[in-house]
Amino acid sequence: MTDHSERDASIVLDYQSGLNHRQIAPKHDLRFQRISQILREQGVDTRPAGRPAPAISPAKRAVAIKMYRDSRSLGEIAEVLGRKSSAINKILRGWGEPTRKNKVPPCGAPSKYLYHRCRCEVCIAANTKRCKVQRHARVARGKCHHCRNPPAPGHTLCEVALSRLRKQWKTTMLKRRA
Ligand SMILES: [Zn+2]
Ligand SMILES: [Zn+2]
Repeated sequence: MTDHSERDASIVLDYQSGLNHRQIAPKHDLRFQRISQILREQGVDTRPAGRPAPAISPAKRAVAIKMYRDSRSLGEIAEVLGRKSSAINKILRGWGEPTRKNKVPPCGAPSKYLYHRCRCEVCIAANTKRCKVQRHARVARGKCHHCRNPPAPGHTLCEVALSRLRKQWKTTMLKRRA
């Protein structure tokens, strides 16, 4: 008999982090009905299918609000809460947390670089680090180094990135010749 304990543990974790049966099933090549069965076998209290994720605990809420006030990205907060980043603003507004739109974030925060366009040493270093992490994540997911496109066959870059590189290379060669 095959040992499914690792797979089952990861299903339980996914479920507790807020994913539903239909989101979990394809990850393991299972039908969503099988996911309910596994969760029951694992003694997990299941919420009715299709219902929203469970309420966020007061502890997690406090962490999320602190992160938000510390200008951490919505993606980071989403990870902590086990929700989609597109849902985070709505969740925060629901808690009565005012938007930080008009507040100038400290240097090193993603939005200070991206939206306030600060290019100080701290912001540049933080952005470089963030890009590197994102690049690794993209490559790990089998995407292009530079964007979310699928890479061209035999390359780690997509067609768009490749043609941009070729253009750049051509200009440098022409400059060198001149
Ligand atoms: Zn800065
Ligand atoms: Zn690309």
